[in-house]
Amino acid sequence: MITCEEFLAEFGDYLENQVSPEVRKELELHLSQCHACRVLCDSSRKTIKIVTESSSFELPGSVSDPIIDRVMAKLRTDRS
Ligand SMILES: [Zn+2]
Repeated sequence: MITCEEFLAEFGDYLENQVSPEVRKELELHLSQCHACRVLCDSSRKTIKIVTESSSFELPGSVSDPIIDRVMAKLRTDRS
C-alpha cells in the first residue's frame, strides 16, 4: 500500500480527476484503509463544493489545512 505521503502527493490531482486509472486505484485503496486521509478527502471535497457553488472564493475562517489551501490555489489558477 502507498504511504500517506505518497497519497498526499497525488491528492490534488486525484480531486481534479487528473490521475491515471492505476494511480486512482492506489489512492482509493489507501483511502479505504486510512482514516486520516479519508477524513481529509471528505473535508476537501466539501470545501471545494462550497467554494465552487458560491460566487466567491472566500474560504470559511476555520479552514486552514495546507492541502485544502493547495487545492484551492489550483482551483483559483484554473479559473483565472
Ligand atoms: Zn493516509
